[in-house]
Amino acid sequence: MPHGKTTIRFTGGSLAGHVEENVNTRLLAPRIENQTGMWIRENDDGSAQIMSHGQPDSNWNYFKVEIYEKQERLSDQEPFIYKYVGQEEVSRCESKTKQGKRCKNRAVTDQDNCSQHMVK
Ligand SMILES: [Zn+2]
Repeated sequence: MPHGKTTIRFTGGSLAGHVEENVNTRLLAPRIENQTGMWIRENDDGSAQIMSHGQPDSNWNYFKVEIYEKQERLSDQEPFIYKYVGQEEVSRCESKTKQGKRCKNRAVTDQDNCSQHMVK
């Protein structure tokens, strides 16, 4: 294994048993999200579209993720284990930017807006 690279293994969820090699150790966040299932896209005419495949693009409106959390390692020789801890729903902030474009941020859980656009 090259320097600065490591192996991670997933337990639980839809990635159970999946092994990813040569992962940059700088990318080992405390939690990893795995987008799963359908996602919803908002078209330029304002209509919505359910997308059964692929990753959310810049017109995303809603998607679901599985959350995996990094576990403590027993030794340096062990792969890093990421354990499935549950699903989260991600909605897009409903606010518009100064340019009139839809804000790209995620809405705070159970809110319509991101933390920057929260009504004070
Ligand atoms: Zn926002």
